[in-house]
Amino acid sequence: MNKNIPLSHPRFKSLLVREKLVSGFERGLVVAQGLIAHGRGEAFDYLLGEQTSRAARVAITAASAELLLARHPVISINGNVAAICAKELVELSKVTNARLEVNLFYRDEKRERFIERELINNGARKVYGVGPRASARISELHSERRRVDPDGIYLGDVVIVPLEDGDRAEALVKMGKKIIAIDLNPISRTARVAQITIVDNIIRVLPTMISIARELRSLEDEATLTKIIKEFNNKKNLEESLGIIQGAKDGLL
Ligand code: ATP
Ligand code: MG
Repeated sequence: MNKNIPLSHPRFKSLLVREKLVSGFERGLVVAQGLIAHGRGEAFDYLLGEQTSRAARVAITAASAELLLARHPVISINGNVAAICAKELVELSKVTNARLEVNLFYRDEKRERFIERELINNGARKVYGVGPRASARISELHSERRRVDPDGIYLGDVVIVPLEDGDRAEALVKMGKKIIAIDLNPISRTARVAQITIVDNIIRVLPTMISIARELRSLEDEATLTKIIKEFNNKKNLEESLGIIQGAKDGLL
């Protein structure tokens, strides 16, 4: 990893994430297309002021409640997220009792195994969806992208999909799953089909979600969780995020 980024650099955090992605690419976790997808995310993050908004915090709270109430919560893992926040993904899975499933847009068993190893090195006990374990099918989708683990996403009632493609998010919704998306683009298809969309950078979302989920879990109060979910309105929440982007020019001109 490049050690030459000065701490004082105004884009320090952003550059550090790039370094992690490049390292993930070199270690076979990330594909070249993933680097491009990250760039799209960065552009939106810039417009959002690179901070967690009120709207994102509300969505993170609703998502935490949903995961805690779920019977079979699952966290879907791709190469990018494994490269930038494996440790936090494992921690969230422990706090919410969610299963971790490797689910790639560009499927490749070798890469699945690298990602599995990365999660295990960061404390995961079991990883779903790797190789022949992904033997169930999402009927809505064609090609290799539809393969999922019968004990993971296929069984799951609430699935959190960070940096997901719109087609697959839509197919999972059609299968009757509750989908929580983490996506910096509030107008992506994924953002619009998910029931809960967190418009924020995954590097900020996960630590916040872990601490909120921990707090909510300690309440041991299902009624409070149900109320949080009932009061959440994804369309309004997305509009609020879009409003931040539209207002970004005000501070500059
Ligand atoms: P869709 O298929 O949903 O219409 P897309 O084709 O524009 O979206 P994909 O390449 O399929 O996008 O998925 C990548 C998504 O992940 C993008 O919307 C991008 O903004 C988002 N993204 C990239 N990096 C991050 C990050 N660090 N945190 C959160 N979201 C991110
Ligand atoms: Mg897409």
